[in-house]
Amino acid sequence: MMKTMECQAAVLVEYGSPLEIQTVSIPATLEPNALLVRTRMATVCGTDVHLCAGHAMASTSVGKSLPIVAGHEAVGEIVDINDTEYDSVGNRLAVGDRVIWTHGFCGSCRQCTIEGSPTLCERRRGYMSAGPDIYPHLNGTFAEYGYVFPTSGRVLVPSNVSDAVASAASCALRTMVHAFDRLGRIDGRQSVIIQGVGPLGLFAVALARQSGASSITVIGGPSARLALAREWGADNVIDISDVPSAEERTDLTRLLTGGRGADIVIEASGATTAFTEGLAMLARGGRYVLVGQLHANSIPVNPSQIVVKNATIVGSVSGAVNHYARGLDFLSRNADRYDWDRMISSVRPFAKINDAIASMAGEGEIKPAVSF
Ligand SMILES: [Zn+2]
Ligand SMILES: [Zn+2]
Repeated sequence: MMKTMECQAAVLVEYGSPLEIQTVSIPATLEPNALLVRTRMATVCGTDVHLCAGHAMASTSVGKSLPIVAGHEAVGEIVDINDTEYDSVGNRLAVGDRVIWTHGFCGSCRQCTIEGSPTLCERRRGYMSAGPDIYPHLNGTFAEYGYVFPTSGRVLVPSNVSDAVASAASCALRTMVHAFDRLGRIDGRQSVIIQGVGPLGLFAVALARQSGASSITVIGGPSARLALAREWGADNVIDISDVPSAEERTDLTRLLTGGRGADIVIEASGATTAFTEGLAMLARGGRYVLVGQLHANSIPVNPSQIVVKNATIVGSVSGAVNHYARGLDFLSRNADRYDWDRMISSVRPFAKINDAIASMAGEGEIKPAVSF
């Protein structure tokens, strides 16, 4: 390999200020089982917007102290493979292959092994948790090069999945594949409501359609996103700008579900009020999975609703390599049926990363990408 010893990375130095493009070191030596990749594409997430703005989040240790190398979604091309022969699911790896990768899950704590829940790893080594001065310097994905931690699961990207979509799969899709696992089986009798129509909600539509759900109703906006949700399999859409009242939206969903409410509700909006609304929309005996709620706001809830409905309420956070691998497989197998790139709302050069984040904050985007 041709060793470039430095590269450009976007660093969050101060909350509320634009990311600084800094020259950072590329690690000269890799830890055993680590990979060095050249970033091909990175994508911007709602989490990046909140993190940069300094909004308190209920999640993990991310961004608790600055500076950090920003970004957590990317696809990279392997430039230094060290002693690694295979990805985490048995595909042979070589220099030049495209991969996506997980945060570092230790593989030797109670959650990783006994509970089988690596996303709850007690010794998680996460991205966006360290600045460029701390080895291996490439501690986030908004950088020309990326470092796959030794304990990060990594998966070869199928040839019919584009760079930008693979990058989106490394966050939104793996999160939704995990959430569907947490929900359990969906069968043809069951109706689904999806709250939110960002990347999480859109992937939820496609996964729910493939699961055989009897009907899918999506609540969110703006209208362009809802149109895409229809194309990807939503039977009904409710635009929150047309129906701004939560009560009226709940009444509408009753009409659409024969008065019963939805058997499955998937929260993918992140809106503070979504839980109260989703609970009201849930049928008796229904299941509700919460995915988008990562804010620090409290809301009033009457827990009696959970009791009288015999409801199952489930939380689901992030995803493990299993979910990355099955997400990529889902994209690849359904590449003829879905134009996954429709989700990628813009592609800018890396130098315009702050424009991509600002544009995401304005909700004019679904999933902005930056190319390298
Ligand atoms: Zn993300
Ligand atoms: Zn662990």
